Amino acid sequence: MSENTRSDQLAAGVGSETLTFDGGHRPVLEARHLVKHFSVRGNGIISLKDQVLHAVDDVSLNLYPGEVSGLVGESGCGKSTLTRMLSMLEQPTSGEVLLRGERVHAKRGRAFREYVGNVQMVLQDPFGSFNPLQTIQRHIERVIRIHENGAKGTAAQERLAEVLTEVSLTPPQQFAEKYPHELSGGQRQRASIARALAARPQVLLADEPVSSLDVSIRLGILNLLGRLASELNVALLYVTHDIATARYFAKNTSVMYAGQLIESGSSEDVTQNAKHPYTQLLLSSAPDPDRPADRKRIEAIGQPPSLITPPSGCRFHPRCPFAMEKCKTTPPPRFDVGSGQWARCWLYEGSPELSADAVEAPSAANATASAAASETPAVSTPPAAPES
Ligand code: SF4
Repeated sequence: MSENTRSDQLAAGVGSETLTFDGGHRPVLEARHLVKHFSVRGNGIISLKDQVLHAVDDVSLNLYPGEVSGLVGESGCGKSTLTRMLSMLEQPTSGEVLLRGERVHAKRGRAFREYVGNVQMVLQDPFGSFNPLQTIQRHIERVIRIHENGAKGTAAQERLAEVLTEVSLTPPQQFAEKYPHELSGGQRQRASIARALAARPQVLLADEPVSSLDVSIRLGILNLLGRLASELNVALLYVTHDIATARYFAKNTSVMYAGQLIESGSSEDVTQNAKHPYTQLLLSSAPDPDRPADRKRIEAIGQPPSLITPPSGCRFHPRCPFAMEKCKTTPPPRFDVGSGQWARCWLYEGSPELSADAVEAPSAANATASAAASETPAVSTPPAAPES
């Protein structure tokens, strides 16, 4: 099998057997080689004419019915831009999105309404997504009307009660009459999930759905989303900066860095046996009570790179304590590291057993010196990205 074909099959970070279309496990939503570049304008003082921000570069991802998939990365890595392309709120520069195997051409009108009925978003800030002057009932009934052939009266009331009950806002009539500001943060997020469910979606894109909520209620919302995905057979993309929650919540996890997916696999493998140095960096900065105390901690240097002038070769090389000469010039392809897990890192070229765990990390001071000597600056300030 050629490297490219194999890479495509591993695009979802799960074994190639799960990507076949002849079995029962067929993706409901596919992203194929999605790219999003933004033209960047200056601010009147500094001219940035003709510059391009590489928000997302060649990302492929599959979502499966009834499964939770995690998408993890730092702020500014492009995960929200990717989510907006999957929801068709942002048109890709190139690449394609397929819903149930059909290429999506939904920019406006009826086709767009049908698509967003099938692919709904749950946003980070539920308060911002509601009109403060309208009751929860008004918000949800509008979705029911649009996506259920203009359903009104008893049918709409029954569907309203059904979705509010599904998210445990009971008794439903009591919550239906409330305005957004009369609900707690957790109740508002439940109401926004109910509004998404009212369209009977096949896919839910949850972009940091709990990061604006109190820690004490996050688990309840995540458990609710996981239960709904399973019971309603909905594919759920859980977008987060918190790799620890992805481990417990998502079946598969993909890690994004500087606009690219750099590692993917089962959540257990990615979090307990991370291969890519960036994933290891994320894990070493995330509290995890199950992590072996003797696990090597790696320290990266600097900040995420500018996406206007991303580093040559491996985009992580200015920060990577394991960077080699080749890393500075040649982008690594995806290397299969076993059990459906892959990593975009030269450490695994031809030697899957060689990993960052097996290489002694240089001290932070040495790494800084090494990066300073490289052609690419060790620290570059990320630009004001449009939305990521
Ligand atoms: Fe580090 Fe090189 Fe692997 Fe990139 S390809 S993560 S620079 S070792």
